[in-house]
Amino acid sequence: MLNILFLAAEAEPFVKVGGLADVAGSLPLALRNLPERAGSGMQLDVRLVLPLHRVLRAESATLRPVVEFPVYRRGRSIPARVFEMSMAGMPVYFISGEPISNATSVYSQDPALDREKFAFFSLAALEMANRMVWQPDIIHANDWHTALALYALRTRRVDPQMRRLHSVLTLHNLPFMGGDGTDVLAAYGLTAPSDEALPGWARTQPLPLGLWSADAVVAVSPTYGREILTPDFGCGLEAFLQKRSASVSGILNGLDLTAWDPETDKCLSGNFSAGHLQARPANKAALQSQLGLQEDPLMPILAMIGRIDQQKGVDIIPEVLRSMTDLPWQFILLGSGDPILENAMRNMQLEFPERVRSVIRFDAQLSRLIYAGADMLLMPSRYEPCGLAQMIAMRYGCVPVVHATGGLKDTVLEGKTGFLFQKEEPSALVEALRQALSTYASPEKWEQFRHNGMMENFSWSRSAAKYAELYRTLMKN
Ligand code: ADP
Repeated sequence: MLNILFLAAEAEPFVKVGGLADVAGSLPLALRNLPERAGSGMQLDVRLVLPLHRVLRAESATLRPVVEFPVYRRGRSIPARVFEMSMAGMPVYFISGEPISNATSVYSQDPALDREKFAFFSLAALEMANRMVWQPDIIHANDWHTALALYALRTRRVDPQMRRLHSVLTLHNLPFMGGDGTDVLAAYGLTAPSDEALPGWARTQPLPLGLWSADAVVAVSPTYGREILTPDFGCGLEAFLQKRSASVSGILNGLDLTAWDPETDKCLSGNFSAGHLQARPANKAALQSQLGLQEDPLMPILAMIGRIDQQKGVDIIPEVLRSMTDLPWQFILLGSGDPILENAMRNMQLEFPERVRSVIRFDAQLSRLIYAGADMLLMPSRYEPCGLAQMIAMRYGCVPVVHATGGLKDTVLEGKTGFLFQKEEPSALVEALRQALSTYASPEKWEQFRHNGMMENFSWSRSAAKYAELYRTLMKN
């Protein structure tokens, strides 16, 4: 039996902002359910630990107190309380404490507040591992929010209790490093490393410290794992990551096929599958009617679902739509994020009231209807570590049109399951869309694309086996 403590800032079904929640909500369970022979040859007891965010969707009645201990900040002790509940047989721990309960949202607009909150959480999670009867063999952190747990682990490895612990850091988004944490490091009694392999500016930022400390770094797709070693994607850490390249790999995220299943999805107006597509058009009609677009089964619907951010390429959409007015289409955007880009998209709806709907909010139900009712999902991401939206889209029969980068390149097959464009330019997306729209005009060809995408297998089992194999390698070393 191998014990793994999986640390994340968010996880379905408790709290979700983006793809990290999908992964943290499904990978630990997939690892627990792996047959012993797959990957590790061992049974994996993976347990999840999350901050007890104020916005959490957990019934407080089901939370059982487990342990309580102090976390020291500038000599003052802050009580950390750990609660437990069970999710499909897996223990899930929630940590509460002042820096966590002070925050009104999962991530705040104030980076310093977030650093405090997640530094406290990371250190408390590590301390919890030290105090429980159940002892992890591996600490598996995710992104900058929990990276300091690995740094604290490495710098405290002199402690015999901690010496036997191994560490993995999964990298979901390299540019989000947590910012300058000089204050937070000092407050929690951590000193910056002097290792010159890490650039000076990075020695006080949570994510680089985690990358420096982890026994293994996993990017969320093989292509992103290679891209981060280059100046275009390495964010200034490429030279450091190249030196560590023997410990850097890429494992594609999977999808929770039960949570994302068009055959059983309760948010849809009609359930369907690859073999029984008859009910899919009902979703298109419901989507058009719900958003006040003309109900036309033949009109291609282009959609985008995601954080409204430069990363996602939302900024090029106005130019793209304006240069395709000669073609029939409707466009739906669902997302929230950067206020300037949100406004630009609201203006697109004003400019094209008959064709464009910009829905600026987080809406899980509507997202499902869009995947099921739209014809194409656009992802012109500048970089995309893995991307889940394109996988969900394919599973729901919505054909992805994507920039050939990161995980998009690893999941969308040009000419078979979707359309890829190479250059990071509006004209390249326009060209891909024109090709996609012309294919859409030939129903048989379009059906083939749709069918190919729906037949792809994005389940966690293969990726979970790769993580299990990695755990085993770490334990052997
Ligand atoms: P990222 O992790 O970079 O945000 P991903 O494509 O990996 O992007 O995952 C995004 C996830 O969040 C998908 O499950 C997507 O459906 C969901 N999502 C993003 N924005 C919204 C929104 N506004 N409403 C509903 N779901 C959303």
